[in-house]
Amino acid sequence: METSEISVGCCIAGGGPAGMMLGFLLARAGIPVLVLEKHRDFLRDFRGDTIHPSTLELMHELGILEEFLQRPHQETRALGGQIGDDFVQIADFGHLPTRCRFIAFMPQWDFLDFIAEHAKRYPAFQLKMETEASDLFVENGRVTGLRATAPEGELQVRADLVVGADGRHSTVRERAGLEIIDVGAPMDVLWMRLSRRPKDPGQTLGRFDIGRVFVMLNRDDYWQCAFVIPKGGFDEIKGRGLEFFRDEIARLAPYLRDRTAELADWSDVKLLSVAVDRLRKWSRPGLLCIGDAAHAMSPVGGVGINLAIQDAVAAANILAPRFKEGTVSEDDLQAVQRRREFPTRATQAMQVFIQNRVIGRVLGTTEKLSPPMPLRLLGQMPFLTRIPARLIGMGIRPEHVRTPAAA
Ligand SMILES: Cc1cc2nc3c(=O)[nH]c(=O)nc-3n(C[C@H](O)[C@H](O)[C@H](O)COP(=O)(O)OP(=O)(O)OC[C@H]3O[C@@H](n4cnc5c(N)ncnc54)[C@H](O)[C@@H]3O)c2cc1C
Repeated sequence: METSEISVGCCIAGGGPAGMMLGFLLARAGIPVLVLEKHRDFLRDFRGDTIHPSTLELMHELGILEEFLQRPHQETRALGGQIGDDFVQIADFGHLPTRCRFIAFMPQWDFLDFIAEHAKRYPAFQLKMETEASDLFVENGRVTGLRATAPEGELQVRADLVVGADGRHSTVRERAGLEIIDVGAPMDVLWMRLSRRPKDPGQTLGRFDIGRVFVMLNRDDYWQCAFVIPKGGFDEIKGRGLEFFRDEIARLAPYLRDRTAELADWSDVKLLSVAVDRLRKWSRPGLLCIGDAAHAMSPVGGVGINLAIQDAVAAANILAPRFKEGTVSEDDLQAVQRRREFPTRATQAMQVFIQNRVIGRVLGTTEKLSPPMPLRLLGQMPFLTRIPARLIGMGIRPEHVRTPAAA
């Protein structure tokens, strides 16, 4: 095993939506950037599939929207859910002030491959897969690089700036000693696949029933299913047996009854623990965290990917000119947090409200459900569905690409 060294302007740990988008934008602006991703490829199924109207708008600004829309995807113009026996439309994207008035559903590995393909067109971009950041180099209180493990041995990276974009179990933020404020989540998610047949419905999003929340994402030949459970409740579910669990799924989505046996044993059901937290300070000299590493998002509303990408755009807008001038100061790093903190806190507050007031209650109830008052109002006054559409589709304080493309 050998030890190799690299020097680069910016080293990003984590090739998720936040890390890949920041890497792309910095390289496009001519700043040498290295992205490290610990997995061999982007092909993992515990990622959300949503590409929001605001992200599609960014792609238009980057001149890659048309090419993106030629890749296989589904377009969802409205979101709804079935609560008890009633179907409620929650968000209608048809009135958004964006070019694309829909959420594009595309497996996230295809989206990340697409961004990587475009980033690689810039000579300033490097991506190292199967390379896991493990520790930071710190000199006189300033982060000066990181240590990573790659298949060929240890990699030591010296960088003017290290970015932690390594998700909600971030090693970088832990090694940097940044203080975490735990907001808490009352639920976990059981994540599994069941095959999809031609006669199945198209895009079903949420099913709320007595004690149960069940979400299905259409991935063409299979359903990616999320079965929401109370936090720490997996052992209890396992204790009731797999047959009971299969029956519960069939009760929530009867057309799946003929294939719940595809869940042959519990290894077909992955437990994804949901966390909601945020850092008190997103940076220290030489280091910045963005995306879930700075603020782990709940799956509620499917907005975490959007926030991660918006962080990346804000960071590139603020930092690229500073890189060009040769100095990225602590104040510049704090400016990224100042720009993105309000959208983060407000979005998390809404997620926590829905987690506690809607999902927590549904999981705890033994009575038949009917839509709560605010959702009934959406049914009576459909124009109100524009509000959730804006919050989900564009988010608070949408960002725009301000970094120029290098020659
Ligand atoms: C069950 C569940 C479902 C969700 N569904 C949705 C949804 O439908 N829509 C939505 O918008 N949001 C959803 N979210 C939230 C969303 O997944 C996150 O907010 C979003 O992925 C954050 O992006 P990110 O780039 O910051 O982090 P991540 O997507 O977590 O990416 C981090 C990357 O860093 C890599 N990595 C980790 N550690 C290291 C290391 N030490 N060195 C190198 N690489 C490393 C990881 O492999 C990963 O590729 C969901 C969350 C959960 C828990």
